[in-house]
Amino acid sequence: MHILLIEDNAALAQGLKVALTKQGFTVNHVASGQHGLETVKTAAPDMVVLDLGLPDMDGLQVLQRLRKLQAHMPILILTARDQVEDKVKGLESGADDYLPKPFDMAELTARLRVIERRLTGVSDSRITIGRVTLHPQHHLVKLGEENLELSRREFMLLKTLMENAGKVQTRSTLESRLYSWDEEVASNTLEVHIHNLRKNSGRILLKPCAASAIQCRKAPPHDLDPRIPRGSGAVRLHLAQFRRGAEGL
Ligand code: CA
Repeated sequence: MHILLIEDNAALAQGLKVALTKQGFTVNHVASGQHGLETVKTAAPDMVVLDLGLPDMDGLQVLQRLRKLQAHMPILILTARDQVEDKVKGLESGADDYLPKPFDMAELTARLRVIERRLTGVSDSRITIGRVTLHPQHHLVKLGEENLELSRREFMLLKTLMENAGKVQTRSTLESRLYSWDEEVASNTLEVHIHNLRKNSGRILLKPCAASAIQCRKAPPHDLDPRIPRGSGAVRLHLAQFRRGAEGL
């Protein structure tokens, strides 16, 4: 889940970025309303966390312009304005949620998860495909009863693939979910994560084939890897199109 944070307090923004990244979000930060608006046009984040006291324009004005740009993109207001009328004004101007400062990090995370579940259409935050269950809130992946040890990025990659099971994921989509702008991404980094995911997740199969992106799907029984006993309900996370080709891999 890619969050754009529009916040002019650099220390707070840095703290939020670190904390939310630990929770599995990818966070990009801008410090002004104008920069925020430009970024939404070009980077299409999944959601925005918006401060109202910004140096160049009022946050409510930013909110209204964001709404015109992206009618359905979730926006959470995070602000020192804590009066009921401020909250009403924010929600009436198109915010999806409103959290006054000072706030508790756990509460912010919980509220972002609610928005995330609404976005992904998964009301129960667990995602299960076959015998594989991923618990976003606990950063846990289970194969049957067995816990799988995955790094943060491997977890995020698997989560993105499982949330979008059946849909082809392009390399650029995956990278935008896994990395923020200021992170250097080596050209083969995604392949390394996929390799590790395949190695570490054992019987979860990520199978490279000749195609251009990645897809996670429930394998039909006849399509299961021969190493997996038939009827085990195991899942093949299918890597379609990951060959070096059009995208300069
Ligand atoms: Ca501010």
